Amino acid sequence: MKLKGNDYICPYCNGHLRANNKIILSAKKENGDAGLLLFDPQLGNYKVLNHPSFLITEGENVELFCSICHENLVAKEFDEHLAKIKMTDDIGNEYDILFSKVVGEKCTYKIRDGKVEYYGADSGHYTNFFGETPKYE
Ligand SMILES: [Zn+2]
Repeated sequence: MKLKGNDYICPYCNGHLRANNKIILSAKKENGDAGLLLFDPQLGNYKVLNHPSFLITEGENVELFCSICHENLVAKEFDEHLAKIKMTDDIGNEYDILFSKVVGEKCTYKIRDGKVEYYGADSGHYTNFFGETPKYE
C-alpha cells in the first residue's frame, strides 16, 4: 500500500491547501503588502518559501488566508498569533493543526479529541491555552 501522506484542508471551504508537497497560503503584512507563503507539510519543519519581492521579517505577526476562499485562518479562540487549518492522515483521521503566524516562531500543535502533540522549539509559548503549564516560564 502506498501512503499518500497527510492532506491539509481549509476549515472554511474544505479546499486542499497542499500542492506539490507544499502548503500554500496567502499572507498579508501589517503594512498591507500581500504574497504567497509555502509551508512544509512535515510538522516541525519550519522552512517557509516566498517570492523575494514579498519581504517578511522575523517576529512579524502576519495574517494568513486560505489561498482558495481567502478566509482569515487566525485561531482567535486560542490566540491572535496562531492560525488553524485541518489535517487528515493516511487512515482518514482528522486533526486541528495550530501554528504560529509570527515569522520565525517555531510552534505547531496537532490536536484530536483533546489530545495535543507539540512540535517546534517555541511550542511552550502557547501551551496554557490547552490547559497545561508553559514549559519556559
Ligand atoms: Zn478556504
